[in-house]
Amino acid sequence: MTDPSLILTLLFSAALVLGLLTKLYLASRQIRHVARHRDTVPSAFAGTISLASHQKAADYTITKARFGLLELAWGTAMLLGWTLLGGIDVLNQALAGSGLGAYGSLVPQLALLAIFGLISGLLDLPFTLYSTFRIEERFGFNKMTFKLWLGDLLKSTLVGVLVGLPIVALILWLMGSTGSWWWLWAWGAWMVFNLLILVLYPTVIAPLFNKFQPLEDETLKARVTALMQRCGFAAKGLFVMDGSKRSAHANAYFTGFGASKRVVFYDTLLKQLNPDEVDAVLAHELGHFKHKHIIKRIVSMFAMSLAGFALLGWLSTQVWFYTGLGVRPNMSGGNDALALLLFLLVVPMFSFFISPIFALFSRKHEFEADAYAIAQTDGKDLQSALLKLYQDNASTLTPDPLFVKFYYSHPPASERLARLGVSPGTSA
Ligand SMILES: [Zn+2]
Repeated sequence: MTDPSLILTLLFSAALVLGLLTKLYLASRQIRHVARHRDTVPSAFAGTISLASHQKAADYTITKARFGLLELAWGTAMLLGWTLLGGIDVLNQALAGSGLGAYGSLVPQLALLAIFGLISGLLDLPFTLYSTFRIEERFGFNKMTFKLWLGDLLKSTLVGVLVGLPIVALILWLMGSTGSWWWLWAWGAWMVFNLLILVLYPTVIAPLFNKFQPLEDETLKARVTALMQRCGFAAKGLFVMDGSKRSAHANAYFTGFGASKRVVFYDTLLKQLNPDEVDAVLAHELGHFKHKHIIKRIVSMFAMSLAGFALLGWLSTQVWFYTGLGVRPNMSGGNDALALLLFLLVVPMFSFFISPIFALFSRKHEFEADAYAIAQTDGKDLQSALLKLYQDNASTLTPDPLFVKFYYSHPPASERLARLGVSPGTSA
C-alpha cells in the first residue's frame, strides 16, 4: 500500500497544482488591484506623481503580470514533460546507449546536464525575446539591439560553460568517489566556488558585459568620498557602469568583498538623480553593509545549501526518488547527475511556499538600510531619490498587499516613504 514512489509522485503533483493555483490567485489579485487603482494617483503622491506616469506604471505592472502567467503555464508544462512524462528518462536512456562512456562515468553524466541545460535554455528563448523586444520596448526601457542581445547570449553561454562545467564536473566526481559523506565534500566545494565567484564576478565577469569606468565627476567624487569616510568606509573602487547600453532602468549596488569591493553606479542613475540624492542612495547601500546584510545573506545561503546537500545525499540513494519523478535509475549506481537534476527541478516546487519568509527578511533589510541612510543624509533626499527611481522604473504605487508578501524583495513605495517620516506630498 505505502509505495514511496507513488507517494512522491502524488506529493510532487500536489505541490505543483497547489503552487500553480497560488501563483494564479496572486497574479489575478495583483492585476485586479492595480487595475482598480489605475485612474487615481494615491493621495500621498498626488503632488509628486503625474496621472500619466501612474498609469504607465499600472500598465507595465499588469502587462508583466499577465506575461508571467504565460511563462508559468509554459514552465509547468516543461517541468511535467521533463519529469513525470519522461523527458529526462528518454534523454538519460539515449545517453546510456550512446557510446559516450559507461553508465555513471563522468562524460555521459556531464552530457546529460549540458543537453538538459541547452534544451531548456532554447525553450526559454522566445520568452526572453518577447520580454525584451516587446514588453520592455513598448514601455521605453529596452535599449538593446538584437545584435547586442545575441552577443550577450553567446557570451553568457560561453561563461556558463567555462564556469559551470568545471564545478559540476567536480561535484559529480565527489559524488562518485568520496563515499556516503560525499555531500559534505560537495557542499565544501560549492561554498569555495561561491566565494570565488563573489570575488571574480565584479572584477572579471561583469566587465565582459559592461564598461566600468572610475567615477570621474570630481564634485560628486568628493561628496561620495566624504560620505563614505563619515560612515567608516575606505572610499576606493567607485565605478560608473554603462547600464544605459541595455536598459533605461536605473540602479546602484555595492559588490564583492576584500580587495574586490566596489560601489557601482549605473550611468542611468547618475543622470536621473541630483548629487544629494546620489548620496542618499549610496548611504542606503552602505547601510546594507553596516547592518551586515550581505554577510547574513551569505551565511544563510551556506546553511541552506548544507541542508540541501544533506537531503540530496539521502534522496540520491532512494530508488523511489527517481521512479516517483518519472525516471528509471540504474540499479547498480551511477545516477548522480540524474539525482542532481531532479533535485534542482523539484525543490523550487516546495520552497515556493516558504518564499514569503525570505521576502520578509529582504524587505526588513531594506527598511534598516533606509533608516541608516536617513541617519547619515537628509531624509528628503532619499525620499525624492526613491520617488524618482520608482517612477523611472514604472513600479506601481498600488500593488496588491498579498502579492507583495510573496514576491517583493523591496517594500512598495508607499510603505517605504511612510517609514521615512516625510510625506511625499510636501516635497518640492
Ligand atoms: Zn537596498
